[in-house]
Amino acid sequence: MKWEENVRKVTPYVAGEQPKKDNIIKLNTNENPYPPSPKVRELAARMNLDGLRLYPDMNAEKLVNVLAQYYHVEPSQVFVGVGSDDVLALAFMTFFNGEKPVLFPDITYSFYDVWAEVFRIPYKTCPLDENFCIRKEDYFAPNGGIVIPNPNAPTGILEDIRMFEEIVAANPDSVVIIDEAYVDFGGKSALPLLEKYENLMVVQTFSKSRALAGLRVGYAIGNKKLIDYLKDVKFSFNSYTMNMPAIEMGAAAVLDDAYFKETVGKIVKTREWTKEQLKKLGFSFADSKSNFLFVTHEKVPAGEIFAALKENGIYVRHWNKPRIDNYLRITIGTDEQMRALVAFLEKYFV
Ligand code: PMP
Repeated sequence: MKWEENVRKVTPYVAGEQPKKDNIIKLNTNENPYPPSPKVRELAARMNLDGLRLYPDMNAEKLVNVLAQYYHVEPSQVFVGVGSDDVLALAFMTFFNGEKPVLFPDITYSFYDVWAEVFRIPYKTCPLDENFCIRKEDYFAPNGGIVIPNPNAPTGILEDIRMFEEIVAANPDSVVIIDEAYVDFGGKSALPLLEKYENLMVVQTFSKSRALAGLRVGYAIGNKKLIDYLKDVKFSFNSYTMNMPAIEMGAAAVLDDAYFKETVGKIVKTREWTKEQLKKLGFSFADSKSNFLFVTHEKVPAGEIFAALKENGIYVRHWNKPRIDNYLRITIGTDEQMRALVAFLEKYFV
């Protein structure tokens, strides 16, 4: 069939399972176990849905302004999108337009190579060291752009911000994207570096720390020139991606900083408790500063533990990929959920 020759063929990204079952413990996609801010709920209850007759504000000004105020930057430095996946995909399209390969770690967010493939961007992966840490020297080579999450996913490892500064400073001819999807759980943001470097863009999301994965809101912060380039591509593609409820509810979530801090604090506390329990059970892992742990067991292969957990309604994530096939990524849930996980594992290992 000739028409197939003209098709853009790609291997799509595989997201974690979203089982259609009740009564499961879902620790497989790094969602927040707590509901969004009550302010979001209140707003939804009194939202004027007549407004849906109109196209939304394509500049999503309300949300952009609230984020700009929160992060002490100018609104012209903020770009919002439909989850950080949308922001990152547009950033790949905008900034990674050269001939040299874009660099990212070999073990990282598994959407990066998918975007590179779909947009026909040359890329090269840089192997993490034996402790799953980034080797900064790898990023001092000629490149067409750099993207690294901090903390990295799925390892949860937080790298020092000074290492990122070195990478950004060494690459004035490339855009460096730091994907801070998990930074709120104990990381240090690269945002202060924006004052010094115009080739840096920081991306964050409402999907994890703000408990709004279902709303689909992500954002990038960078200097105005860089954000303007991103907007040019976005408005050449689809202007009205941010719908009215997402703009309104997203803004309400940011304004409820007390709830944000409280729920993030709870998750961090539960994470630390879970670390202790899993250590006692024979798991080892690097010190995660995210809302998940990336663990391996001294005796039982990860694939077997994964299957046993799933059998019993506890969903975690496992990849059949080189270097990480003996690891499980476990999202931090509520205390109750983590107690159930630990109780199951205690019985499983006897
Ligand atoms: N970056 C990283 C490192 C992630 O793990 C995720 C979540 N899958 C995302 C970006 C995208 O999240 P979202 O599109 O929900 O903002």
